[in-house]
Amino acid sequence: MAALIAISMPARGEWVGDARPMMGTEVSIRLWHDNAATGEEIVEQIFAEADRIDRLMSTYKDDSRISEINRLAATHPIVAGDELFQLIRRSLDISVLTRGAFDITYDSVGQHYDFRKRQRPDQATVATERQLIDFRFVELDQAAGTVRFREEGVRINLGGIAKGYVVERGVSILRSRGVRNGIVTAGGDSRLLGDRRGQPWMVGIRDPRADGQVAISVPLEDEAISTSGDYERYFEEGDTRYHHIIQPSTGEPASGVRSATVFGPDAVITDALSTSVFVMGVDQGLRLIATLPDY
Ligand code: ADP
Ligand code: MG
Repeated sequence: MAALIAISMPARGEWVGDARPMMGTEVSIRLWHDNAATGEEIVEQIFAEADRIDRLMSTYKDDSRISEINRLAATHPIVAGDELFQLIRRSLDISVLTRGAFDITYDSVGQHYDFRKRQRPDQATVATERQLIDFRFVELDQAAGTVRFREEGVRINLGGIAKGYVVERGVSILRSRGVRNGIVTAGGDSRLLGDRRGQPWMVGIRDPRADGQVAISVPLEDEAISTSGDYERYFEEGDTRYHHIIQPSTGEPASGVRSATVFGPDAVITDALSTSVFVMGVDQGLRLIATLPDY
């Protein structure tokens, strides 16, 4: 009898979601819920969380905590707050792991780019500012929860890891609300919760040189995936493409790779690693990934 009832009932639940411009990119959420109204409310909760994280971590907002750190941390230690402190700590760990390919202090040079206005730092500016790119200039005091810079002029920017963090926070909210199938995406970073109800999610990886076209589609479940490319934010001058991923050792945009994709369990890590592998190049990058069994 129970089986008969189950068969005769219409499928309960539906997909809900939305995509919105945020954090200089697009944040999108899709989830399955028995009750559409509750589903929509969860979607709003995740957008609100993304907005909160952006306000905390954006260097484009003068009143964010990270902007305060960039203004004052060379003068005295600044209390970061637990969440920001932990993400900076994880960023520094990844700098050690990647031998400096990933470095949140890239921003001493990075701040001089404005891709919309086709602005870039001149040779002299790069030569001076790149000396301030070194994650060892960032000093964390775990007990006090503070950040201090060892040199005047050091700046940090979490652009290479914050979107992964937004994605992870989004998936935590999905879980805590009992959702079993969903996807949270922020720019090039996604995490899939469960499958697409009976079939895997198909995640398209963009062709870096054919606008809007997908190079390959990958079937995935319960996995994070991040792509870093030289086509998101860039402009060209002659044969040179100036884009947003900086090689810390030169202070210039990293060359050699057009697009790097990393899979693994945690979107914070896949985000930072896709940026890292892009900087490290094919040989070094693949060697690093080979040492990380989950990625
Ligand atoms: P997207 O922002 O397109 O998702 P990434 O995840 O690769 O791409 O992040 C690129 C961003 O990372 C840049 O816009 C910049 O904020 C930051 N970044 C650039 N170079 C580095 C670097 N060497 N180490 C850490 N972060 C970087
Ligand atoms: Mg990244």
